[in-house]
Amino acid sequence: MTRPRPRPDLQTLSGYHSPQLDVTVRLNTNESPFPPPAAFVDAWVAELRAADLNRYPDRGAEQLRGGIADHLGQPPARVFAANGSNEVLQTLLLTYGGPERRALLFEPTYALHAHIARITGTPVVTGHRNDHFGIDLPNALELIERESPEIVFVCSPNNPSGTVEALATIAAIADAAPGLVIVDEAYGEFAPESALRLIDNDRALVVTRTYSKVWSLAALRLGFAVGPQWLIEELDKVVLPYHLDVATQAAGRVALQFVDEMQGRVHHLVEERERIFAALRDEPLVEVFPSGANFLLFRCATGGRAVWDGLVARGVLIRDFSSWPGVEDCLRVTVGTPEENDRFLSSLDEVLRESTDHA
Ligand SMILES: *Cc1c(COP(=O)(O)O)cnc(C)c1O
Repeated sequence: MTRPRPRPDLQTLSGYHSPQLDVTVRLNTNESPFPPPAAFVDAWVAELRAADLNRYPDRGAEQLRGGIADHLGQPPARVFAANGSNEVLQTLLLTYGGPERRALLFEPTYALHAHIARITGTPVVTGHRNDHFGIDLPNALELIERESPEIVFVCSPNNPSGTVEALATIAAIADAAPGLVIVDEAYGEFAPESALRLIDNDRALVVTRTYSKVWSLAALRLGFAVGPQWLIEELDKVVLPYHLDVATQAAGRVALQFVDEMQGRVHHLVEERERIFAALRDEPLVEVFPSGANFLLFRCATGGRAVWDGLVARGVLIRDFSSWPGVEDCLRVTVGTPEENDRFLSSLDEVLRESTDHA
């Protein structure tokens, strides 16, 4: 047998890597440390019991989209939902990307943007963020002018840095771009302002969000896009029919009855983030960057990898970015419960002390 060969352009791709180690404090993948309320689970399970499992789910997920639209004060025709915002992004790329169409993004940023672009055959043009991990507008405008990208990714708050982009910058990029601007707001609810305000039928800009982080529902895979109606209509043609199953649709709808609880968790996590930020700022061997998300990026003067190893040895798993271009020696910690955050901070302090004792 000769094995069929995958597309040649896929040969250099590697899959998504984030080690899942068995540790007691897991602060590496930006999930919520809190489960959704028990009353949510009860209401969701009751809906599942009543569901017609022999029938296909609502193909357009109309009720879910209507609920999300109400929650955000947008018309329902501006909302598209899919299995995690990664499937939303993939649908956007299948619709607006492809060979001969470039996608521009600003590194360091969320690795899945380039990955999904490549899987859909879309060539990637890489811009670079400034020393504070912001997008430099004149540089962005020059790249847009030169490369004429069909798609521009703006991740705000940016993963892994947490950097929040000014709305004026995003609007200026949208004005200059010849095609679509995708604003990935997976962490939007943790930030002070949102590009949802910029959505308009006369602007080629779409915002993507997810239930994985703020809604404490990473296990269920639900994300959505908010954009002009004409764009949502195109996505509906491309996505597979019945892609969003009845359990996921019900979860998304029922979760919207617990907005106050969600906002309470967000508020609490933002307070914890600022507490960790202040503690890291006081560490002499650490440089921490301001964040509008539920995580913090920090650089270790004693070498990122060694600090990461020392934390793992103490049962604390965070995300190692130390060998990524542009974030050398940097680690990213997800905000956890107050107890988990204390464990992280005291372990980090120990690791840093040890490294200076040995120096
Ligand atoms: C976590 C994350 C997502 C993916 O979320 P899912 O909805 O779980 O697919 C998208 N974008 C960014 C920047 C993220 O960090």
